[in-house]
Amino acid sequence: MKIAMLARNAKLYSHRRLVEAAEARGHTLDILNTTRCTVNIASHRPTIIYHGEPVTGYDAVIPRIGASITQYGLAVLRQFEMQNVWSLNESVAIGRSRDKLRSMQIFAKHGLGLPLTAYANDPKEAEAIIKAVNGPPVVIKLLEGTQGIGVVLADSMSSAKSVIEAFRGANVNILVQEFIKEAGGTDIRALVIGGKVVAAMKRTGAADDFRSNLHRGGSAQLAKITPAERATAVSAAKRMGLNVCGVDMLRSNHGPVIMEVNSSPGLEGIEAASGKDVAGMIIDFIVANARAGGTKTRGK
Ligand code: ADP
Repeated sequence: MKIAMLARNAKLYSHRRLVEAAEARGHTLDILNTTRCTVNIASHRPTIIYHGEPVTGYDAVIPRIGASITQYGLAVLRQFEMQNVWSLNESVAIGRSRDKLRSMQIFAKHGLGLPLTAYANDPKEAEAIIKAVNGPPVVIKLLEGTQGIGVVLADSMSSAKSVIEAFRGANVNILVQEFIKEAGGTDIRALVIGGKVVAAMKRTGAADDFRSNLHRGGSAQLAKITPAERATAVSAAKRMGLNVCGVDMLRSNHGPVIMEVNSSPGLEGIEAASGKDVAGMIIDFIVANARAGGTKTRGK
């Protein structure tokens, strides 16, 4: 099988592991730097040009599109889909999961566990919004934030109001959430492949940080998850329409609550914590499921 991977950094652990796993199974996996792909939009002939040559002959594409280049990366991925190349995660599903507010609305509609969440637009409404999520304390987060940057814990009404006013004054969009104190700075990451949780870990933040992101100095350990956590992760993946994703949850006293769903989950922490060959499972899933034109949405 000939697989393309849209990724910017070929040296990243996750990307190296996917190449290794594909080659170990007798397939080829070429990394195409997403930002160097040129999209050629000609009637009836959607093409992608890479290093001056049209990109052809791939059976599947693995999108590993960084948050900072979502728009462009999804345009390149749609072009693959329109050429009938099967994508591990479809562009429409990735787009959905990248919008935190939209994802939360979808999860809420389907009854999945979420922290009480409100969306603030008018800073004059700050106090009402803080009360709507039973705060203070509240967690205020940038809609476009990643890796824990732009996630703020505000303990008092006055600090919460000033943070909301500051963010809105700078014209950035934010969510306000109840603070899940009982999670104790630990979250659960469940890795879902093809509707099954294949590995799980718990991540604990650096001392005195309520955020558990590994990028913020947190550490990962193997986690045994509950049936409710497993069911939540599987439904979240299904509702996003993602074949492969990392579902982040907190253990709240009203059951598992979803933080976010990541369509390009890192493999280093989860492989180390679980001892599983997650990259190999991803390649096996591609081999079992990829077929030309088999993409449901084809970018539409
Ligand atoms: P990012 O997408 O930037 O990683 P998250 O929304 O996942 O942002 O938040 C980062 C971390 O902060 C989470 O993994 C969790 O540990 C902590 N956190 C976020 N929201 C809450 C909350 N409502 N209550 C308690 N902790 C939270």
